[in-house]
Amino acid sequence: MFDCLIYNMKEQMALFVIENHGKTVLIDTGTSSEVDSLLNYLKNIGIDHLDYIFSTHVHVDHIGGVKRLSTQFPEAKIVVSKFYQKLPETKFAKEKSDLAEYHEYLVQNLKNRVIYVGEGDIISLDDLKLEIYTAPGHTPEHIAILDRKNMNLFPGDSIGGHHLGSGFSRPTAYPPYFNHESYSKTVKKLSQIDNIKSVSLAHFGVATGPEVQEVFKISEDVFKAYKDTVVESYQKNNGDLNSIITALLDKFGRSPNEIKHNRPDSLIFRTLGGISIGFINALGLKSKF
Ligand SMILES: [Zn+2]
Repeated sequence: MFDCLIYNMKEQMALFVIENHGKTVLIDTGTSSEVDSLLNYLKNIGIDHLDYIFSTHVHVDHIGGVKRLSTQFPEAKIVVSKFYQKLPETKFAKEKSDLAEYHEYLVQNLKNRVIYVGEGDIISLDDLKLEIYTAPGHTPEHIAILDRKNMNLFPGDSIGGHHLGSGFSRPTAYPPYFNHESYSKTVKKLSQIDNIKSVSLAHFGVATGPEVQEVFKISEDVFKAYKDTVVESYQKNNGDLNSIITALLDKFGRSPNEIKHNRPDSLIFRTLGGISIGFINALGLKSKF
């Protein structure tokens, strides 16, 4: 696990490197600004090549470094969801979505280096098998990855944002892609994988032992608590976004990084506003008024 110090904040974004018998994988990249420190880290741990770079999903903190890293490691294959292959048939192709943009970049620049994966597909690093789970909800093309040798799951943002150690969690219910039903199904599906020994969380930490099921339970509980607060406040305040955000802040507070870095209210409001709009859209609340 590598703390890439995204936006100069500690314990905000973890990148994961797997090495097995000389084969190497990077799971997510941070933004392009973190690539230099990632390259230093790889050098320090003796990794001089990458066989695979996985993109769990399209958000910039997970794929922003692909361009630089794929140039730095020309042998690396880029592993993304099969969802992209049917993208032209979806509404995301017509809109100027970052999904369409990322796919266009992959096709135009890395054409023969892209591997499209779907449910149950396996990428092998010698005797270490990485199994793919489709994990939509946070975004439609999200994938989770299970290292079957160590039974270690990499869920990306598909089961929420959990900051281990502080015990702080938020649902990753951001617009425009958040889908309420898919997100719940994904949390349930991944929690039911047998014998998971650890969960490597992007935002941030590695849950082990009893923490594993605890993380899934919190994913469901926090998700429901935020959703209920958004719905209740939406109805009480006639959909006024500021009131909804204030209700979330009153109930769930600030994250450890927001407190530690004295993040201005405007930024916190933007984050919670995103989550609120994600729920409002996904639940079709607007149409109910
Ligand atoms: Zn994300």
